[in-house]
Amino acid sequence: MKVVYPGSFDPVTNGHMDIILRAAKIFDEVVVCILRNNSKRYLFDVNERIELLEELLYDYDNVKVVNYSGLLIDFVEENNIDAIIRGIRAISDYETELQYAQMNKFYSKTKVETMFMVAQPEMSYLSSSIVKEIASFGRDVSSLVPENVAKKIKDKFK
Ligand code: ADP
Repeated sequence: MKVVYPGSFDPVTNGHMDIILRAAKIFDEVVVCILRNNSKRYLFDVNERIELLEELLYDYDNVKVVNYSGLLIDFVEENNIDAIIRGIRAISDYETELQYAQMNKFYSKTKVETMFMVAQPEMSYLSSSIVKEIASFGRDVSSLVPENVAKKIKDKFK
């Protein structure tokens, strides 16, 4: 089974890594897909985000990192993806995720399934935005993100 884990990953956090590695144990192939959303401003450009994720996932043969600027269901159809993986941290995630899951199923020719994986309790408060906010005030975020990300984020806010 080939699945896609889509998101902004701006930047990738320990919460994202946890989902990716858990998914890699279950599914044959996991495609981490960096999606571009024109209404969002990013701290890391796509190439930086790809580089960070690739460094982290180098040893995992069934995980690959790509970026896509179109609609997720087009990516799903073009790449023969069997399911979309999303992480759920709290009930607030569920509301929007349910909407996306229904829309993606409705609009995709393959009626793609979305599968939810729940966040580890200790990571359920963690998001890329909170990491950026804390880092922007000069605080250390090394317990929230992988080491390569912590280094890069420190440089950004120097
Ligand atoms: P988006 O730009 O779609 O919000 P993100 O890059 O923030 O995407 O997140 C991608 C996916 O990872 C989403 O399904 C999100 O719910 C999930 N996710 C984000 N942070 C965590 C976390 N700490 N634990 C588990 N899942 C998470």
